[in-house]
Amino acid sequence: MLQRTINCPQCGKKVTWDAVSPWRPFCSERCKINDLAQWAQESYRIPIAESESESEQPNNNEPA
Ligand SMILES: [Zn+2]
Repeated sequence: MLQRTINCPQCGKKVTWDAVSPWRPFCSERCKINDLAQWAQESYRIPIAESESESEQPNNNEPA
């Protein structure tokens, strides 16, 4: 019988894709929480990065 395994997105550890791995695709609750925390931080950064992207052009310092 084939056993499907994947790699944990957090640590790369092999995870059995079955009921024995309640945290799949992560190997453990810890990896799942770490991934969610990273994802939340990324989504918080987006509005900040979008606000002033064109006000700092390096071309403005070009001497006449
Ligand atoms: Zn892991």
